[in-house]
Amino acid sequence: MPSGNVIRGTRIGSAPERFDQRTEPAPRRPVAYWCRNDHRVEFLIAAEAEAPATWDCPRCGEPAGPDPANPPGRQRSEPYKTHLAYVQERRTPEEAEALLAEALDALRRRRGRP
Ligand SMILES: [Zn+2]
Repeated sequence: MPSGNVIRGTRIGSAPERFDQRTEPAPRRPVAYWCRNDHRVEFLIAAEAEAPATWDCPRCGEPAGPDPANPPGRQRSEPYKTHLAYVQERRTPEEAEALLAEALDALRRRRGRP
């Protein structure tokens, strides 16, 4: 297996050094957010960009805000729902019955039982 060729080919395909020299990285500034669990999130955004009002904490998933004394999301706006709850929201019991009957019909047909 000529693995050396693969490596050489990769090197030729990448390394756009001229491109790097031509482009300056856009200026960025750090922003910090705190979630209600006292997690601090810091990242860079484009200098001219407006910082988002909230940011999802990567550690716990709660929304984080720029004010450490008053983090957002003291309470979830929407309670946790199971997958079934979402399905039940989208379909009425009648629609679910029809779908189930249809699926059972198809299953019986596949098994050769009318
Ligand atoms: Zn957090």
